[in-house]
Amino acid sequence: AGVPGAGAARREATIVGAGLAGALMATLLAQRGWKVEVYESRGDPRLHGFAGGRSINLALAERGLHALRAADADRDVLAQAVMMRGRMVHPLDGTPQLQRYGRDDSEVIWSVSRGELNITLINAAESAGAVLHFDRRLEAVDFAARRAFYRGDGALHRVGFSTLIGCDGAGSTLRAQMGQRADLGERTDWLGHGYKELEIPPAADGDFRIEPNALHIWPRGRYMCIALPNDERTFTVTLFMAMRDEGVGDPSFETVPTATEARALFERDFADTLPLIPELEHDFDTNPIGTLGTLYLDRWHLGGDAVLIGDAAHAMVPFHGQGMNCAFEDCVALARQLDASADLATAYAAFEAQRMPDAAAIQRMALDNYIEMRDLVDDADYLLQRELELALQARHPTRFIPHYAMVTFMRIPYSLALERSEVQRGILERATQGLSSVDEVDFEVVAAEIERLLPPLEDAA
Ligand code: FAD
Repeated sequence: AGVPGAGAARREATIVGAGLAGALMATLLAQRGWKVEVYESRGDPRLHGFAGGRSINLALAERGLHALRAADADRDVLAQAVMMRGRMVHPLDGTPQLQRYGRDDSEVIWSVSRGELNITLINAAESAGAVLHFDRRLEAVDFAARRAFYRGDGALHRVGFSTLIGCDGAGSTLRAQMGQRADLGERTDWLGHGYKELEIPPAADGDFRIEPNALHIWPRGRYMCIALPNDERTFTVTLFMAMRDEGVGDPSFETVPTATEARALFERDFADTLPLIPELEHDFDTNPIGTLGTLYLDRWHLGGDAVLIGDAAHAMVPFHGQGMNCAFEDCVALARQLDASADLATAYAAFEAQRMPDAAAIQRMALDNYIEMRDLVDDADYLLQRELELALQARHPTRFIPHYAMVTFMRIPYSLALERSEVQRGILERATQGLSSVDEVDFEVVAAEIERLLPPLEDAA
């Protein structure tokens, strides 16, 4: 669809940022016959190695995978991915327990390397015909004259554009430039918690040191560690905790400023990880503290001149592992709207109307999931409700689908997943109140509630 016939004017777009969304967006438009130019501030990662910045690896789920299928990049990405069947929860005392994400191995998520994924997508964009310019940082935009200014190789380059698609991430320069022309209603809610990455290297025999097919979590109430496997048999561990001392006795980056305090913290709270992280001191003192926040905008586009997608439009906290998945879904949604309308302003407005409620929904679910991950995953009531979710799914497969599955294994709009999750949470709470086992649940009462409150659900086409 959308490929112009012979003689039709070729549609053109300039994409700012060749990160995850930018490279995928370029691929989708170039595949449709568009003339696509991409400007990326960093060097070409295929020549200089990947200069990270954000997390080293990411969890890829069905929404992102579906978008990669559309770009024909899914096989290459999955070839380098490590399957994660569930959460391996490491309590303070006791043995780690695997909590499966889905019913079987058809419902899993994938740990992918950001650098490898980005390179795969950059190659896909080039093969599809997009032209990529590296070492070109967008600095300013003259919308009236339709010119953009990029800094790189010691010079400022002035380049014309017909429309700009902003994929330049949470700190988007394009967004700032758009904000000078119109009030975008920009607001960032900082979480007040940050993160630091550490590494678990392979074992002496070259194998993974802990279970590879899981996302490991060490929940400790108001802070936690997680670890995701990498295909070179390492794990990237991420410590999340408050930036400042909150006065409640919990550690923070203020009270744990250096490796010395970090070792004491790990000895006390994450003792089983210590033998796994031989370079704890080095990693802690070398790696930066990442900050986390949620970005809200009232407007994502300026007529047909420019539109924002991915983190540039709606950065979120990482606790549902959906930021990239959502950014990829944006790419598919925007490409579809551009297929449906030749007028850019109409397509951008339709994209914004479609996706803004969904972005807001996953932003909210991502915030809620921090509490779930750091605190609830080893709570008895929580575990009882998870068990009941699975039992109800087995009894009412089209109506009751666990919250995590709706977000992770389906492609229904995030806003619908949130709405149904809230109804389901009420049902689960009422059904388990005062109970300690699923056997005590009155399934007839619950079935009546489900019939009344949850219409059958079909997945997105
Ligand atoms: P980015 O990936 O940030 O790409 C922006 C690109 O634009 C970069 O290449 C940058 O160099 C370039 N750029 C920036 N400024 C300019 C400029 N002025 N001119 C030109 N180019 C520019 N998501 C998941 O789905 N699953 C996860 O498990 C997950 N884990 C995460 C863990 C952490 C700790 C964090 C911080 C995020 C995580 N995310 C996860 C979210 C995910 O990283 C983002 O949602 C995703 O990277 C967004 O893609 P993007 O292309 O919009 O932005």
